[in-house]
Amino acid sequence: MRVEATIAGIRARIAEARGEGKVAGLVPTMGALHAGHGALIERARRECGYVVVSIFVNPIQFNQEEDFSKYPRTLEADLELCRSLGADAMFAPEPQEMYPQPVLTKVEVAQVSEGLCGEFRPGHFQGVATVVAKLFHIMPVQRAYFGEKDAQQLAVIQRMVADLNFDIEIVPVATVREADGLAMSSRNVRLSAEDRRIAPVLYQALRAAADRIGQGVDSASGVRQAALDVLARAPEMRVEYLEIVDARTMQTVKTVRGPVRIAAAVWLGRVRLIDNVAVGSI
Ligand code: AMP
Repeated sequence: MRVEATIAGIRARIAEARGEGKVAGLVPTMGALHAGHGALIERARRECGYVVVSIFVNPIQFNQEEDFSKYPRTLEADLELCRSLGADAMFAPEPQEMYPQPVLTKVEVAQVSEGLCGEFRPGHFQGVATVVAKLFHIMPVQRAYFGEKDAQQLAVIQRMVADLNFDIEIVPVATVREADGLAMSSRNVRLSAEDRRIAPVLYQALRAAADRIGQGVDSASGVRQAALDVLARAPEMRVEYLEIVDARTMQTVKTVRGPVRIAAAVWLGRVRLIDNVAVGSI
């Protein structure tokens, strides 16, 4: 596996691969890799002749300095995982390589970015869309893999690609969970032992809401209440938002008709967890 820290280096690798007629696939990450990232890399490996994993903790998408500085960084283990899954290249630039000067050009995906996490993390999706646009220009791949775990991010990127005519297919990958249902996340390592025990209640709440839809309830408030009832069992969990949204536009719905996502963010101690479940095929 080639490890490249420079834009020129990774560009040359991808040009080579595409010159050989290979389909190139990108898995963009912030590192601290776990089995959730692994599922994206494996899927890319099955579908692409040349697989690149990028690792970049993107400073412009963090709105709390503490979250950025405490974000886990485990480069050696990440290299090992990518090698073992058969990735062809890793792009791991320093912030100076990505942002040699303050970035004045930003990508804003309106509407899709506005509710849910966008409401509580101002500027977050602008930072995400901007860095992903940069990555797509740096690495002209044919496919890019994104997890449904970050459903709003996925929707933002899908819309950006459509609006700005990136010639890249966005491939969504289902959320990988721990045995107790907790969605895998690089931030889970920051949970205390007690909070880790409580954390699966989030997924249980989302499942309860999805089951309520399965029972024929179509009022979003009734569905939402099913999740809130479960969350009430874990008073340590502070709910930031819990919404039923249209799966494509990420706009809150009042009545469940087409495909929706039940999406939530909660705080456990100083750790913020997000998760969602989809109901209806998207
Ligand atoms: P991150 O490193 O957290 O920015 O995530 C990089 C990519 O991995 C994003 O597309 C995430 O949605 C995806 N991802 C993170 N956790 C999971 C998970 N548990 N299951 C599936 N995909 C995930």
